[in-house]
Amino acid sequence: MKGMQNGQPDSAFIRSMQKLKKWLESADKILIGAGAGLSAAAGLSYLDEELFKQFQPEMAARGYRYPYELFERFKENWPPAREWAYNIRHINFVRYEFPPSELYKKLLRVVKDKDFFVITSNCDRQFLRTGFPMTRVFEAQGSYDRLKCIKGCTKETWHIKPFIDKLLPLIDTETFMISDESAIPACPYCGGPLFAAVRDYEEYEEEQNRYLDWVESTIGKKLCILEIGVGFNTPVVIRWPFERLAYYHNHAHLFRVNYEYKEVPGHGGYPMVPKELKDKATPMPYDAKDVIEWLADNLPENNNN
Ligand SMILES: [Zn+2]
Repeated sequence: MKGMQNGQPDSAFIRSMQKLKKWLESADKILIGAGAGLSAAAGLSYLDEELFKQFQPEMAARGYRYPYELFERFKENWPPAREWAYNIRHINFVRYEFPPSELYKKLLRVVKDKDFFVITSNCDRQFLRTGFPMTRVFEAQGSYDRLKCIKGCTKETWHIKPFIDKLLPLIDTETFMISDESAIPACPYCGGPLFAAVRDYEEYEEEQNRYLDWVESTIGKKLCILEIGVGFNTPVVIRWPFERLAYYHNHAHLFRVNYEYKEVPGHGGYPMVPKELKDKATPMPYDAKDVIEWLADNLPENNNN
């Protein structure tokens, strides 16, 4: 893999890591942006065919290969009973069965004594589950935990766990449908369908403001920006704002950790940085796992943990 030779890090990897380490140690503020690549490095990839066979055997038997392939399944016009069978199984696995990640825990060890903030597009709640203080995490795409009325008649949300408990036993493994349609959640106000709350719910604005206030507090301070596994799925959430922030901030540096998906070798990943950032950004074409583990092993304050 890139950055490694015979299991040992190569010199380019070490050089970038030393630079990142120096910035992490000397910065007043650390901003982390985490995308799907971080959870993939932690073993939870939406392109993983083996994992898919394990937790969605009925869909694998129907010829589907991995979760990402099903992100646009609305085009297939599934009936609600199928949609909910699939969603409940997916969310239960990602949110509750998949264990809290050691890699996220190591990332927390790297930054815990600093003034840090995380913005993430991941909905899997790994930051919550691995002990990150959630006042320092902005889940910019919401999380799997909340359901809201798809018609938007209210900003109220409902936790998904009671629906998981109710619907999981109702999945008919032959038809892969919820066997009792009356159990499918509906909005108590308008009767419309419920769906994952991405934005526009009661607490969202508060969480977003906390993030924006923190970013504002970096003005005049030394800011280390560490972007991990953010591609071009929703670049408007993290990737492009980070580039602008690095460009306009008078004392910031962007480290962009991005590596090709291990399931799709050869595409090369997206570590590139705009030429306008010149010496304000460092592309890091390495696996997030290698980067975080190196930091956890090499930052002196972490050696006793
Ligand atoms: Zn409603």
